[in-house]
Amino acid sequence: MDRKINFSAGPSGLPLSVLEHAQKELTSYQGKGYSIMEISHRSKVFEEIHFGAMDKIKRLYGINDDYEILFLQGGASLQFAMIPMNLCKGGKAEYVDTGVWTSKAIKEAKIQGINYEVIASSKDTNFDRIPENINFSDDADYAYICTNNTIYGTQYKSLPKTKAPLVIDASSDFFSYKMDFSNIGVLYGGAQKNAGPSGVTVVIIRKDLLDRAGESVPTMLKYKTHTDAKSLFNTPPTFGIYLLNLTLGWIESQGGLDAIKGVNEQKASILYEAIDNSGGFYKGHSIKKDRSIMNVSYNIALNSELEPVFVAEAEKAGMIGLKGHRHLGGIRASIYNAVSLENVKTLVSFMGEFAKKFG
Ligand code: PMP
Repeated sequence: MDRKINFSAGPSGLPLSVLEHAQKELTSYQGKGYSIMEISHRSKVFEEIHFGAMDKIKRLYGINDDYEILFLQGGASLQFAMIPMNLCKGGKAEYVDTGVWTSKAIKEAKIQGINYEVIASSKDTNFDRIPENINFSDDADYAYICTNNTIYGTQYKSLPKTKAPLVIDASSDFFSYKMDFSNIGVLYGGAQKNAGPSGVTVVIIRKDLLDRAGESVPTMLKYKTHTDAKSLFNTPPTFGIYLLNLTLGWIESQGGLDAIKGVNEQKASILYEAIDNSGGFYKGHSIKKDRSIMNVSYNIALNSELEPVFVAEAEKAGMIGLKGHRHLGGIRASIYNAVSLENVKTLVSFMGEFAKKFG
């Protein structure tokens, strides 16, 4: 089979075994004579998948019963608005701005007319780092960060200590390492990078935050509507949840989040090494200490006109999705869970040959 090596930033490659499993039971789920797409979300058969996926998330992260798990629609982008709608209680919300996705979240806070403050930003240096000295107020309504910045390739190496509930957009590093939940209020992200197809947004929310939303918040946009109904208030994206459940099963079969993290770190390390040892041919965007292990954004420092050539040649060699985001240009290799160490070695060797040819 001609499968490309897929470095797309999202939607991204899924484990082949997951796709093949889904393919096998596409027309007849477990030999029952119907597709999982064709039955009620209120059936026992679907409920098993739905609650099975929730249980896997709890197991993977070691989350206790203080939290609810939701499968929503509208992407991570809808969460930018749902967070201020649901979590403000008359005080101030605080944000750290680390790039396009936090800027969009901040814009939604502004639209909601809430009291908010950007307490730290790396805009001055074109988001090449996570700001130092992040100090959230103890009494903030919530403290908002994005753990991994998909476009700029930066990532928090530890979560800020907060007394206020920490709200995390983890869209691009969800299910890639274990997190300490002790101060997490909400953790959310689309499934389409590390955990399935687009169309499912996973939201993990601490139960004590559910009563904050005012009367005027529309029913579908209230977290409590969905937690009360175990994320079955209306028809959920059933096929996406089915694929999410399969992908979470695959993560468990790999040894869980600690094992996945180990491989992810190895992949990132050989790729960054190739950049650092290229004699200045390639140059990474992020400063070293804040480098993402999910999205590696870099340039051909020697001559940026070579970047489209690199992308085209890589494609000829069977590697797709390497064009940088339009905000940054250059090259971006997204090395999510389904990209293997072997795949990254192939890219590294291609980079070496390319630099030799054009350097
Ligand atoms: N946050 C981050 C960190 C992202 O990378 C993305 C998408 N690439 C989003 C939010 C927006 O997600 P969606 O397209 O699911 O709304």
